[in-house]
Amino acid sequence: MTNSPMAPTETAGPSGESSRLAPKLRMTEYGPEKLCTRCNEWWPADEEFFAPDAQGSGQLFHYCRACRVEWQRSQRDKKRAATAGAMEKAA
Ligand SMILES: [Zn+2]
Repeated sequence: MTNSPMAPTETAGPSGESSRLAPKLRMTEYGPEKLCTRCNEWWPADEEFFAPDAQGSGQLFHYCRACRVEWQRSQRDKKRAATAGAMEKAA
């Protein structure tokens, strides 16, 4: 058994695993880009492509604007369907 001083350090962090919690950001020659977690596309990380987080944390929403609109619409439809169903039951 050879005790190599160049043994790989297991604590360095497995590649990919830690990126799940990290913001999906990358630097390009044009500036920072952000990964939309819905369409999996990289967009410039600014408010033109990402709406600011509703909580006012100064961060950008994790969906791009196009996906956010679709997502909000689907949420609204879901809510409306639930309301309609409840009203039907109540009537
Ligand atoms: Zn998107």
